[in-house]
Amino acid sequence: MARFGDRIGMLRNDFVGAGLDGFVITHLPNLRYMIGFIGTAGAAVVTPDRCTLVVDFRYATAAREILASHPDGLVDLVLVDRTYDETLTDLLHRPEASRIGIEGSSMTVTRFERLSTLLAGLDRRGVSGAVSLVATDRVVERRSAVKDAFEIRTLREAARRLSHVARGVGAFLREGRSELAVAADIDAAIRDAGFERPAFDTIVASGVNSARPHARPGPRTLEAGDGVVLDFGGIYDGYCVDLTRTLHIGRPAPELLRLAAAVREAHAAAIAAVRPGARPSAIDAAARDVLAGHGLADAFGHGTGHGLGLEVHEDPRISKLPGAFPDDPVVAGMVFTIEPGAYVDGLGGVRIEDDVLVTGEGCDLLTDVPIEG
Ligand code: ZN
Ligand code: ZN
Repeated sequence: MARFGDRIGMLRNDFVGAGLDGFVITHLPNLRYMIGFIGTAGAAVVTPDRCTLVVDFRYATAAREILASHPDGLVDLVLVDRTYDETLTDLLHRPEASRIGIEGSSMTVTRFERLSTLLAGLDRRGVSGAVSLVATDRVVERRSAVKDAFEIRTLREAARRLSHVARGVGAFLREGRSELAVAADIDAAIRDAGFERPAFDTIVASGVNSARPHARPGPRTLEAGDGVVLDFGGIYDGYCVDLTRTLHIGRPAPELLRLAAAVREAHAAAIAAVRPGARPSAIDAAARDVLAGHGLADAFGHGTGHGLGLEVHEDPRISKLPGAFPDDPVVAGMVFTIEPGAYVDGLGGVRIEDDVLVTGEGCDLLTDVPIEG
């Protein structure tokens, strides 16, 4: 449990370095990362000398158990009295706190304004010092993108289990079965493999539907010659893994096989580009350039990958520039997907997705499943 102390220490360094007097965590995956608390509601206020978990009555017992597992004094507990925001306001309104960081990418504008109004209201009643909320970007996420030894062990085991599921999905595909029936089989296999639950809604996209990267499984039945994109993931001990294979029913059209060969080459090129110091945009370009070389530049309309952890889509984002995401070089300990694809309307689509861990020299493939074209 020393890891929570380390994480809280890093957060303090980060927010003090950014000129802040404290930090409010309201994004629940970050709360789990920082304190170990799991719930559907909760928050934490971290200052240089105090870390306070705020939960409501429903989670009081769970929170006390978590705190009992931490070193004495690392985290204290405050139960919500009236509302979360009023309780947070009481905790934030200290003479020594004037600039408090909030998580800009997850706090709603409504909540930001409500908290700001509550804090300003206290000021007007003559309590010393004005507290202002400062939107920050990826303060916790930048740290949680680099996995520690415990997280790497967990993700390795999760990927091993998901690979086992993937090796069995071919048996679910038969002419005449619906996409929905196949998706239900995959979800059952994910649970049978020891996952808490699927990490997202399983994608089964067959025939012309496979040309849509995020198609939802529907009543369409599988036909000879179909390509079928199967994209599924599981949550194991809190950590998400994610994998895609594109399988064929019977004998696919030659154009579809050419698409599959191009994506396989792009997938291999991107994995070969993963090493510490590589920029996400360069890893993305490795895949994109291969597809462009096959005349498929316009057929690949999404990013090459995304980080995995307590969330299924997290930093780093492996995408082309200019993007909404930072292009900081990847470092050892990051875990992310490599999932190039090519989608052609009227023909179909192909995507191949694996999970990699950046190591000292290159990367380890965490998922281990044959790629069938
Ligand atoms: Zn996926
Ligand atoms: Zn993915």
